[in-house]
Amino acid sequence: MKFNQYTIHELQDKLAAREISAVELTEAVFARIAEVDDQVNAYITLNKDEALVQAAAADKLLEQKKGGPLCGIPLAIKDVMCTRGLRTTAGSKILESFIPPYDATVIEKLREAGAVICGKVSMDEFAMGSSNENCAYGVPHNPWNLDYICGGSSGGSAAAVAADECIASLGSDTGGSIRQPGSHCSVVGLKPTYGRVSRFGLLAYASSLDQIGPLTKDVRDCALLLKVISGYDRQDSTSVAQPVPDYLSALEPGLDGLKIGIPREYFAEGLDPEVNEAILTGIAELRGAGAETVEVSLPHTDYGVAAYYIIAPAEAGSNLSRYDGVRFGYRDKEADSLLEMYEKTRSQGFGDEVKRRIMIGTYALSSGYYDAYYKKASQVRTLIVEDYQKVFSQCDILVSPVSPMPAWRLGEKTDDPLSMYLADALTIPANLAGIPALSVPCGFSSAGMPIGLQIQAGHFNEEKLLKAAFNLESALEVKGQKPKL
Ligand code: GLN
Repeated sequence: MKFNQYTIHELQDKLAAREISAVELTEAVFARIAEVDDQVNAYITLNKDEALVQAAAADKLLEQKKGGPLCGIPLAIKDVMCTRGLRTTAGSKILESFIPPYDATVIEKLREAGAVICGKVSMDEFAMGSSNENCAYGVPHNPWNLDYICGGSSGGSAAAVAADECIASLGSDTGGSIRQPGSHCSVVGLKPTYGRVSRFGLLAYASSLDQIGPLTKDVRDCALLLKVISGYDRQDSTSVAQPVPDYLSALEPGLDGLKIGIPREYFAEGLDPEVNEAILTGIAELRGAGAETVEVSLPHTDYGVAAYYIIAPAEAGSNLSRYDGVRFGYRDKEADSLLEMYEKTRSQGFGDEVKRRIMIGTYALSSGYYDAYYKKASQVRTLIVEDYQKVFSQCDILVSPVSPMPAWRLGEKTDDPLSMYLADALTIPANLAGIPALSVPCGFSSAGMPIGLQIQAGHFNEEKLLKAAFNLESALEVKGQKPKL
């Protein structure tokens, strides 16, 4: 195996034993990027020179046995988290030349843990999308088949991990954007409980839904990275002051006493039969590890997409008003008046999907329509929260598909936003309720495209997700399979 193909926990040992240096490892990652990224297109901005400086510093610490948990580990960051001195575009032309003067809290935490930042990876513009085709810097391709989407909006993160163009990555998830690309690229992806991870320095899409989380090659790495980025942050008033458990200690074999709910509504019409089959196999393996299963119902699941596509655009419309050409980012220089400058800057700077969301959000919040749309959607959100409360008194976790279908061909849904939105039906409810949810590789379709299994749990029960996922991963032979690039 090549160095860049290992997991974080394997590399921790190799680096500590000085079997390999952080500089060699970083060079291996950049060699891989040079080899495949013209096909995969996962990266928007490379940080090679700086990464090698960070790796050399990590080697010094490793020599003195002083390195943190990520010392010398090359990571890729979704281009929506501010990195001091390193361009952060959010996949948008409007931020083409934005160089943040500060680090997001998660980036600070990664740096403290010794990580090497290889670069910023592709995403749908402002995280709006399910296929990563809405990116101003080209579309990433699925490493398992380059004619297919890698999912979105954290598509670059998932593709970079799957193609071994980094060791692990951070993504963000507002309605499925970590779990769905994770599922489509056969990597582990976790959306933490709302408030578990600081959002300070994350360019906001929909603030009541956004959460940062890991995309990794296996469940152990997921637990490890989650531990590093979690915790209260006084710069994010929505982060929660709950102690951060040692997620790694949750990774024990055996699921005796665990009660798994199988939500009926997640196996409804429209579910691809091969996805259904893979998930049923996964459920059988979880039972084999000792878990008990019970059928449950989340009756308002069907309304999640409609509620989300009001709430998220409403918040986005407000959040994106800061991109006005005055304070930072792109500005149209030809305009004769202030109003014209705003108009031209925003119409040239934003892509079509972002404009569509701003229009939906503005409409939904406009006086006279507020009650019919935003208020109604918020009420539906409460019903979804209550569905989960009821269900988590009957079981510990919920198991379902992540996406109703495997990855589709590039271009297949670009002219049909509604069918793209519906692809998020199974991931959106967790964001509306703020609960943690994870995607773990579970199999492949007959066309060879990955299928992920979703696990959801009550607030701050990430350990239950990780334990179940760890047991599933150990029972299946999916982990370690690599795409042939
Ligand atoms: N696909 C959803 C959207 O377009 C979710 C995106 C996300 O989680 N960032 O809004």
